[in-house]
Amino acid sequence: MPPLKRTRRPSHTKIVATLGPASSSPEKIKALFDAGVDVFRLNFSHGTHDDHRNRYDLIRALEKEFAHPISILADLQGPKLRVGTFKNGKIELKAGQAFRLDMSPEPGDETRVQLPHPEIFAAIANDADLLLDDGKVRLRVTKSGKDSAETTVVAGTALSDRKGVNVPSVMLPLSAMTEKDHKDLAVALEMGVDWVALSFVQRPEDVEEAKRIIAGRAGLIAKIEKPSAVHQLKKIIEAADGLMVARGDLGVELPLEDVPSIQKRLIAKARSAGKPVIVATQMLESMISAPTPTRAETSDVATAVYDGADAVMLSAETASGAYPVEAVVMMDRIISRVEVDTYYRSQISGYHPVLQHSTSDAITAAARQVAETVGAVGIVTYTTSGSTTLRAARERPQVPIICITKETKTARRLVLSYGVYPIPGFDPKTFNEIVLYACQITQEHNLTRKGDKLVITAGVPFGVPGSTNILRIAEITE
Ligand code: PGA
Ligand code: MN
Repeated sequence: MPPLKRTRRPSHTKIVATLGPASSSPEKIKALFDAGVDVFRLNFSHGTHDDHRNRYDLIRALEKEFAHPISILADLQGPKLRVGTFKNGKIELKAGQAFRLDMSPEPGDETRVQLPHPEIFAAIANDADLLLDDGKVRLRVTKSGKDSAETTVVAGTALSDRKGVNVPSVMLPLSAMTEKDHKDLAVALEMGVDWVALSFVQRPEDVEEAKRIIAGRAGLIAKIEKPSAVHQLKKIIEAADGLMVARGDLGVELPLEDVPSIQKRLIAKARSAGKPVIVATQMLESMISAPTPTRAETSDVATAVYDGADAVMLSAETASGAYPVEAVVMMDRIISRVEVDTYYRSQISGYHPVLQHSTSDAITAAARQVAETVGAVGIVTYTTSGSTTLRAARERPQVPIICITKETKTARRLVLSYGVYPIPGFDPKTFNEIVLYACQITQEHNLTRKGDKLVITAGVPFGVPGSTNILRIAEITE
């Protein structure tokens, strides 16, 4: 990589920003990166493959220019169910009225509309609730047929073309990947994305199926937005490489008041498993059209940081809002403020993941403790697969986790994780080479200066994942 132009912001909690029409010019993407974005999200629910390719290329050019790894996340739409269209674009509904869903592509009216998903009709029983338009309309099934359903309107007054449909109470006989997702995934992997997010995961098998296709070319994030995923969390976390608390659909599928507790539980479990977790949706929602957020939104971002999330995400705020850069600046300000709060530190350090009885766990847990005791300014992890670094991140240390690795791919993927500052492109032969290199490269990146101490961990022999067995305290002497 060319010489470093700029060091990154010092915060531990990472920022994920979605690109879209409001943020796809080279200048805007650069401004977002400058404001503090670590991970760019390409949302395959919108835009063409060419849109995503252009954005991808612009990000990689920026990465080269700044000589700092940037992570790219491709978010697959998944089996998002939608109604068809209406003769007049929209209809009025009254509570108590009858409304029919069927397979006819004929534009709908006040009495019926198309729901082009036969599997849904097969899966729903009488009394099941269908939620439309993010839960604004609720229909209760009174008579379910093979390819239609009679319903009663429980709540809601308006419905328009192609609104989304959620069926919370039912385990749908759907794979988490549609035909479109298969095509999108192939394109995303060919581009070289670092992460793939899988929507509407219902069971561990959904994650396993996607991982088989991805075959190690990217990390897999399971978006938790279905009750069935919440119920099988343990296995889903085991199968996935990371999690997203996808509060948008989660808040439709489950009672809204359940979402905060689920968020806390998901963050704790992901952290314990040493896998990154993103908190997503409506974080600074009002900044889509206003230059400052509400107090409640500010508090929401802060809460995710206090909870110990690896990353917080912006969706429409950066993709289609009027203030994309301001939203990132605001997020960065909130993160920075929380992270210097002594209450935050005591919260984060009060939680200790359950350790396995292994040398790697013992060394990485000790690294944080040693760093605190000797006042080290960073923990250096040398890694090939990333596992040593993920273990260190799980401890949520107060100082940056400097990740030295040969692999650019590993570095990019680790950008998402708490506190990780990756520096790719070094291929040492011995542990001593790592120590010398760490002392020198961290000075070049303005992370250390003469007299500072670093705690350095690695696994010898090199190249065996999870074999961390050395810990060294190094002092920068020149
Ligand atoms: P989406 O996922 O924006 O792709 O729907 C996030 C969410 O549901 O919160
Ligand atoms: Mn969603």
